[in-house]
Amino acid sequence: MIRTMRDVIVAANWKMHTTPADAGELALVIAGRTRVPGVIRVICPPFVCLAAVGRALAGADGDVGVGAQNLHHEVQGAYTGEVSAAMLVGLATWVIIGHSERRRDAGETDELIGRKLGRAVDAALRPILCVGEQLEEREMGQASLVVRRQLQGAVGPHDPARLSAAGLVIAYEPVWAIGTGRTASGADAATMAGVVRETMGELGFPDHGEMIPVLYGGSVTSSAIDEFMAEPSIDGALVGGASLKPDEMAGIVARAGVTAAARGQTG
Ligand code: PEP
Repeated sequence: MIRTMRDVIVAANWKMHTTPADAGELALVIAGRTRVPGVIRVICPPFVCLAAVGRALAGADGDVGVGAQNLHHEVQGAYTGEVSAAMLVGLATWVIIGHSERRRDAGETDELIGRKLGRAVDAALRPILCVGEQLEEREMGQASLVVRRQLQGAVGPHDPARLSAAGLVIAYEPVWAIGTGRTASGADAATMAGVVRETMGELGFPDHGEMIPVLYGGSVTSSAIDEFMAEPSIDGALVGGASLKPDEMAGIVARAGVTAAARGQTG
């Protein structure tokens, strides 16, 4: 798909919350509270809730994308408990890849994350690739270096035109801001969005990476979102804890809608 303007996106990462019994209802309530022109909404529930959320949203008016929180780097095989890209087809159209909690808990490396990226694109799933530095790395002045290295490792092996056509989204999520109640400043997030696009440009992405949507993630709430959406280089948010709260999601998407309207995105 050729894109002429960067999408404004709010993606909800429900992590290991909700069950098949209650996820559909929550998704429906959030969908009803977040109908805002120009903002792409995505809900990423646990694997086992994808079907329930998909069913609930199919009955809702207004488009809300459904995303998985992970996928396996192999096509199929003896990987007990894992979920492949092909298994997600029909259940999800988006997928989060390289979340810092998976880098931390499952030891995911940039190389492995890069392979997941390839699987996602092969299965026509729109990837949200997470990058971000640890607190010590920021304090040592290495935030840009770390994010560059993550992008080079995961994105570098791929054909940039193909990833670009697949609608690759980058979520800049400083690890120290995830689930901590502490956020980066809007200015720091904007600087890092610049680093992301510069690196994507160096990797050969069309338009020097300028068309890649960059989301901010890390303790985003309805009151914290303004600082990020006020930055022209930030195109939305990846929301964890607050995404389980319909009031919070309503506020976050409404603020993203102000940015979408200012950019002339009304569809
Ligand atoms: C996330 O899960 O990607 C995230 C940013 O979480 P939280 O909003 O809870 O910090």
